Parts: sequence; structure tokens; C-alpha cells
Amino acid sequence: MFADVIVDIQHEKLDKIFQYRIPEEMEGRLEPGMQVLVPFGKGNRQIKGYVTGISEECDYDLSKVKEIAEIPERGVEIEAKLVALAAWMKENYGGTMIQALKTVLPIKQKENAKVKKRLRLLLDEETGKRQLHYYLEKNQKARARLMAALLDDHLLEYELVTKKLNITLPVIRALEEQGVLAIESEQVFRTPLKETGRQEETIDYTPEQRRIIDRFREDYLQGIRHTYLIHGVTGSGKTEVYMEMIRTVVEQGRQAIVLIPEIALTYQTVMRFYRRFGDRVAIMNSRLSAGERYDQMMRARAGQVDVMIGPRSALFTPFPNLGLIVIDEEHEPTYKSEQTPRYHARETAIRRAQTEDAGVVLGSATPSMEAMYRARRGEYVLFEMKNRSRMQQMAQVYTVDMREELKNGNRLILSRKLMELMAERLAKGEQTMLFLNRRGYSGFISCRECGHVVKCPHCDVSLSVHRDGTMRCHYCGYEQPKVTVCPECGSRYIGEFRAGTQQIEDLVHQAFPQARVLRMDMDTTRQKDAHEKILSAFANEEADVLVGTQMIVKGHDFPNVTLVGVLAADMSLYTADYRSGERTFQLLTQAAGRAGRGEKPGEAVIQTYDPSHYAIETAAAQDYEAFYGEEIRYRELMGYPPVENLLAVFISGEDEALLEKGCRYLKEYILRVSRGSRDVQVIGPAGPGIDKIKDVYRRVIYVKAGRYEILVEIKNRVERYIEINSGFDRMRIQFDFNPM
Ligand code: ADP
Ligand code: ZN
Ligand code: ZN
Repeated sequence: MFADVIVDIQHEKLDKIFQYRIPEEMEGRLEPGMQVLVPFGKGNRQIKGYVTGISEECDYDLSKVKEIAEIPERGVEIEAKLVALAAWMKENYGGTMIQALKTVLPIKQKENAKVKKRLRLLLDEETGKRQLHYYLEKNQKARARLMAALLDDHLLEYELVTKKLNITLPVIRALEEQGVLAIESEQVFRTPLKETGRQEETIDYTPEQRRIIDRFREDYLQGIRHTYLIHGVTGSGKTEVYMEMIRTVVEQGRQAIVLIPEIALTYQTVMRFYRRFGDRVAIMNSRLSAGERYDQMMRARAGQVDVMIGPRSALFTPFPNLGLIVIDEEHEPTYKSEQTPRYHARETAIRRAQTEDAGVVLGSATPSMEAMYRARRGEYVLFEMKNRSRMQQMAQVYTVDMREELKNGNRLILSRKLMELMAERLAKGEQTMLFLNRRGYSGFISCRECGHVVKCPHCDVSLSVHRDGTMRCHYCGYEQPKVTVCPECGSRYIGEFRAGTQQIEDLVHQAFPQARVLRMDMDTTRQKDAHEKILSAFANEEADVLVGTQMIVKGHDFPNVTLVGVLAADMSLYTADYRSGERTFQLLTQAAGRAGRGEKPGEAVIQTYDPSHYAIETAAAQDYEAFYGEEIRYRELMGYPPVENLLAVFISGEDEALLEKGCRYLKEYILRVSRGSRDVQVIGPAGPGIDKIKDVYRRVIYVKAGRYEILVEIKNRVERYIEINSGFDRMRIQFDFNPM
């Protein structure tokens, strides 16, 4: 038996895995993640490595393969757990072990010479002293000197160490390698509050909050770990509940990770955590440099923080004693990685929690179909929070049928009802948000007179218009000529919906010359921080109306917004995607939830060409149950996730003819290997969205199966198949499980 071993997990070059023979006495004891000592290089010096995989075959010259020297006797380090997690991700999401390791491990970037560096002690006092003793014993004077200095002062200026203490880089590196110290570069991102800013707020929890907090605490203290799903309307006090759960975990000497989508990670939210946990909180966001992110990770590793807050990648914070992972806005598509391995943070968090004896809490006002499906099947513990914590009313929602508007002679993109309510707001000095739903806009064709949308006869998703004048299905490749007359009602008002945010802004100016309007879309947010600036200007009531795409739906609270208009609510229904109903429901519910967050009651207007579509009807009624019931029936009927599982195999290459041939072979191969299982279905190949980008052609084959493991097995087989068949080395193949 042979083990794959990675020896250097800290540096950017992390890219080489070596094979070692497993000595007989170690057989059966090794598994991915375990630390081993291996002989390395010409001199066979012994170095530390981590097992990343085990196999029966050796890819190298057998006579040259070295043997693993030993398994060090020590507790399992966090790095080992993360390596094991990477192995799990590689297996379940595809890609290489190196890609998985790079996703999971905090990787030190090349150091910038101009940046001021510091050395930070990673050991606690006692272990440090023992280490000092050891160096003295071994007569390693330089190491001992540095160790003693670090015990005096846990954070040393690099300059001071090299100049005053006269310690050379190899010594520093050696201690770094032994995990004694970390070399930090750049500014460490610190809490803007002093420790004294911490307040013990006394909140009277609502009965709904109390019940969840108590149940969690009871379970936790008894050592029971679950995944909990909190389905709570916006403003029901979920964040307060998370903080209370975190307190329980931190009291036990353990740490917590809080995942929040970047866009919702606002100053307000961050401050709430700081106020509660002081400088034991660290924040991770995309504005930090790679060096700063690494520093944050090292602070967590060294036990200097208890709570890490950040987007998806914060999931891999190397806490030594993780107790809880919270995923807020659990339904957000940003929790799915768009790079290989295309992992989902929810599943990966649950896996990490299992292996580290931690709990998981998912929260959302509109839980994903996945989460609710699992909760209903008893895999998660489900909590409902139906009331807003401060007794505000939910918004009053009106649906406007835009076909009727057209019949009544209104050709504008704003309905009369919406304009009427806007005028009222302007008179009262209250604010309005106009939200143009353009999510996943993909050139579908719809009839403005009857609302009909042209769909694929096989897949029940909308067909997309291509420049060559055809309409195609992105799942199965079905194709037909573009229609110019509505096949339902014969109207010539059929085509692509083209309104943009700019047009809406112009229209608002025309209709209400006195109104101050802000616009937020791709064009106005190109510059750094533009996004924040627009939102804070609107929060400061420097404008009466904010027009924008879905980016305005999340994040900030605007207490003076009492009206939300959703234009083209059904636009997102017809993305060529089985999740379109779910996304539409989520967007509309969130949009409606934006109105009336303050003291004043809110109203929302949903404009649509398809008012009787269940996603729109149930969103207008703010009835999640009803939506879930309809949607899960559809998923069952079509065999889509979460009822069944879907694997997308993306194939791309520059040579179109070769690509076509490769796709054919692959499809045949998949059909062949899956013949044993009756529930496997292979669809495609089709072009995924855009067929050709920068001279690279792309295709996708979908494989549907009841059980996830079958898809993993197919992925493994395909990986081996393309490895041994030449021709595929001129194509790129990627896997995406349950794509979003
Ligand atoms: P969610 O995360 O569900 O949207 P939050 O936790 O942000 O809800 O709560 C919404 C608002 O209500 C916040 O301003 C929060 O401070 C406040 N709040 C939450 N729980 C309570 C409570 N029990 N009593 C008073 N105010 C509360
Ligand atoms: Zn029609
Ligand atoms: Zn189709």
C-alpha cells in the first residue's frame, strides 16, 4: 500500500504530493489528514508531512519509493483535520487534492519586502517554556534566545529580532516550521472598539427566541450535536439567537465561525458582534489583503479570537477547538463555490462539524429547498420564528398584472398603482425602493400581452435566444427557430424584455421631477466602495428613491423606506434553471421584507406578467409553506435536487470538432458505467449559457441520479477514463455537483 503525502502545507507553492510506501506495521492505521514523518531529499532528512490519500498502486519507479518513517505520537492538530476535510471535498466535489488543499488551508503568500513584519508566538506559556528548555538542552543557542524573547513579548518586531538579537532567517524559519511562531506581515485588522466598548446588553428574549436558545444550550451541554435550521422572518431576531448560542459555546472554551454573505456583512452587523464579544472577534472580508487574511487565520489558530465572521471561505478558519458554525442567509447562492472544488459551504460545514464535534446552525427567512427538505426529513432540527421581535407588521403586498396595464393603455414600466403609492411617499417624505429583477437574465422570450414564455418541451425551463436566431435549451440542447408571434395568443408583442435601471431612473425623473433619485447597478458600482457610498447616502435620506438591481435587496436596514416596487417580478422565473422558482420567491420575499423595517408600516408592489404563478402568488402572500409545497412537488416530478441529485460535467476546449467527439465518448462512457443503476439519467451535451468565450468552446453533460454516491462514483470513473484516454488532455473537464 502507498500513501500520498504532502510535505509543505504553508506556502504558496503548495503543489507537490509525493508517494511513500506504507510499512506493514502501519497498514490500516493511516488515513487522510494524519501527520507522518518522512525521509525527504537527497540527505533523507526527516520532515513532517500529511497523508492526503491511500492507494494500492504506485505511479513511480518502485525501487525509488521511500517508506514512511513514523507516525508521531501527539494529538490531532487542526491542520490534520483540515487536510482530512480537503480529502473529503476532493472526493465529493471533484478536482485535484492540491486544489482542495489550497481551498482549505491558510496559505502564506510570498512576502513583500517593504512590509513591516512581526513574529508572533503561537504556543502557550507552558509549552513555550518546555520548548525553551529543549533548545537549551540541545545547545541550540540562537533558537533558545529567540524563544526566550518570545516568551517575554509574544509579538516581536522582525527587525529587532534580526538586528538586536542577531538571529538569522533560517532560525526563524525553523521555529516557524515547528509551529512555534508565525511571521506576520502588514497591518493586522483589529477591532475598532476598545475592550471597554463591550457592553453586556440585557435583552428580554421573545418566547420564540428563548425556546431556541434553551434547546440549543441543553443539547450542547449534554454533548448532543445537531444541525439546526432556524426559519425566521426578517427581523425576527435570528442574529440575537446566534450570538447567544455562540456565548454558550465560547463559555465552554470553544470557538465559533459565523458565515454571512459578503453583501450582508454590514458595519451594523459587525458592530453588534463587537459589542457582544469585544476584540475576541475577527472579521474576514474581501477588502483584506491576502496577508491580512492570513494574519486573521493565524490569530484564530493561536487562540486569540473566539469568533470569526466572514463569507464562505471563513469556513476554513483553523480554530483549534471549534464548537459551532453558523450560516446566516443559508439560502444564498454565494455559499456555493464557483471554482473547483465547487463545494457548498452548507454541506462542507456539516462535514467539518461532524469531525470536530461541533454544532451547525442554519438561518434564513426563506430557507433553501435543500435545507427545508432535509429538515422535514428529520436530518436537521427545525425551528420557526414567525414574529418580528419588535412587533413591526409585515408589509402589505399588492400584485399588479402588467398585461392588464397594457390593455388599459399604460405602456410604461411603472404601473399606475406603484406611481400612486410613490406620489404618496414623496408627499410624506418617506422613501421608495424600486427593484428591477434581472437575476440570471438570459434572453428568454415572453409575450407582453398574455405573459406566455417559450419553454423547452423536455425540461420545463425557458429557451434562450442566440445570436444566430435560434432558441435553445441549456439543459438538453433542444433547438428551434426564434418566434415572432406568440404561439399562445397570436400577439406580435413578443420578444426579449429589455428595460434597464437607467430607463427606470429616467422615467422616475419624468414622472416626479421633484424626486431625488439614486441608482445602483453594475454601472454605478464599478468603483471601490461605490456600493457602500450609495447605500449610506440613501440611509442618510439624501434621496427619495433608490433604483437598483438585486444588490439593493440585501444588507442595510432603511427605517424610512415604506414602499418597495418590484419591476418584472417574473424575469427571474425564466432563467434556464430549475431553481428559478425558488430564486424568484426568495427575491420577492426579501424585497417585500425591505418595506417597513422601522416604526412605520410598509407596502410593496409586485409587477408581473404572470400573477398566478405559484412563486409570485405565494411570495405576495408571504407564505413560505405554500411555496415549499408547490416547489417540492415540481422537483419530485422532474427529479431535480434536493429530491434527486444532479452532476454537471463541464467540458471545454479550443478545438470544436475534438470537443464534440470528446463529449460523445464521455456520454457513451457514462451511459455504459451507469447501466447497472436504473435511476441514472444522462442529459446533453448542450452549451451552458454562453457557448463560446474567448475562443474556448464549452459543453455540459448532466447526470441525474437518486443517490449522491452514485454520482461520486461516476465522477471517479470519468476522472480515470480521461486520464488514460489521450485526446482528453486537450480539453478541460470540471465537475459541479447540484449546480446553482
Ligand atoms: P434577524 O437576524 O432575524 O433579521 P435581528 O437579530 O437582526 O433579526 O433583529 C432585528 C432587530 O430586532 C435588531 O435591531 C435587534 O437588535 C432587535 N431585537 C432582536 N431581538 C430582540 C428582543 N428580544 N428584544 C428587543 N429587540 C430585539
Ligand atoms: Zn401571447
Ligand atoms: Zn431541454
